[in-house]
Amino acid sequence: MTANAPITPDILTVPRKEAEAGKTNLVGMTRDAMRQALVGIGVPEKQAKMRVGQIWQWIYQWGKRDFSEMTNLSKALRAQLEEGFEIAIPEVVSKQVSEDGTRKYLVRIAGGHEVEVVYIPETDRGTLCISSQVGCTLTCSFCHTGTQKLVRNLTAAEIIGQVMMARDDLDEWPVPGTRNPDEARLLSNIVLMGMGEPLYNFDNVRDAMKIAMDPEGIQLSRRRITLSTSGVVPEIARTAQEIGCLLAVSFHATTDEVRDKLVPINKRWNIEALLEALRAYPRLANSERITFEYVMLDHVNDSKEDAHRLVKLIEGIPAKINLIPFNEWPGSPYQRSSNNRIHAFADIIHDAGYASPIRKPRGEDIMAACGQLKSATERARKSRKQIEAEAGVKS
Ligand code: SAH
Ligand code: SF4
Repeated sequence: MTANAPITPDILTVPRKEAEAGKTNLVGMTRDAMRQALVGIGVPEKQAKMRVGQIWQWIYQWGKRDFSEMTNLSKALRAQLEEGFEIAIPEVVSKQVSEDGTRKYLVRIAGGHEVEVVYIPETDRGTLCISSQVGCTLTCSFCHTGTQKLVRNLTAAEIIGQVMMARDDLDEWPVPGTRNPDEARLLSNIVLMGMGEPLYNFDNVRDAMKIAMDPEGIQLSRRRITLSTSGVVPEIARTAQEIGCLLAVSFHATTDEVRDKLVPINKRWNIEALLEALRAYPRLANSERITFEYVMLDHVNDSKEDAHRLVKLIEGIPAKINLIPFNEWPGSPYQRSSNNRIHAFADIIHDAGYASPIRKPRGEDIMAACGQLKSATERARKSRKQIEAEAGVKS
């Protein structure tokens, strides 16, 4: 760790219970919280656990938003639920569909804030890229989200609500009592790679992902969920212990000097500290590798020396290196590396025995590609000058 001043997240928080007509939202509650809520309205302790399972199935497996449809609950209980609770998810403000089939949704959450969610269809899977914060407190110089000043943590309801919203749009809720075969799912994978730093909103991300993985919840395998962090070192071990999903790390540079500029959290936890945490990341199976994300910025981090250094640094870590050609955004201070440089870099990594796929930019025409997300409602923009000063580059 370096001696630099800590980066203190300056995040607005909202109370868990959003008071819409005085009702408590059941979406996003942990099993235990829902059990307590049910006991609170008089459901006998002995029954409460089973009722939670039933309600979870209606909400998360079959997509029901109306208590009257929950036919295995007594009419009296349904009426009581109706009185005190709601099943609420973020509202879709707009939807854009790219030439390549990628869908970008703008969703509105409590307080009028907006976040973006991206659905990426592929031949063997459909990935939903979800957001964990409005904006981001970190200011990675190549990331559009990092230029948005207003930041607030999303609640667990708002996080899992993005998945429910996408399933609505894809029209893939199974008929009650049945389930879709896993291999036929349109939404088969989740990546926490949208707006925000998920590990700065740990508890809500954890609670939401528990619902995503629960056999009575959204029922996705933990291996189909990937959390991407810029390197919040103290929370990395907890990610394995408390969530258990796959991990991706925004590495992006091979020296502290360059990483300090690209990913400023490096000033707090440098490359060495980050690698130490990754070496300790528990893995249940050998096939579970850590994904190193590496954005390709022309003549900034894309030299052959960088590639060789990267191989040395990650020695001993089961890893896959995802090379992401830089996606431009208005005022961005970098250029995408040339194809030649990207391929030369990839070859060195590949020859050292690591998978080094080059990520195909998706949804560029609708500004849905990695790092292009930023909600338009946000007014306080940084100037181009400010962005360049932070990036340490001249125009
Ligand atoms: N905050 C988390 C997750 C969101 S960003 C994190 O930083 O890991 C998802 C990925 O997109 C990260 O690897 C991020 O560094 C990368 N990214 C950000 N801006 C980008 C851009 N303009 N072009 C390509 N990738 C970008
Ligand atoms: Fe935040 Fe990730 Fe963007 Fe950095 S790359 S500013 S951590 S969203």
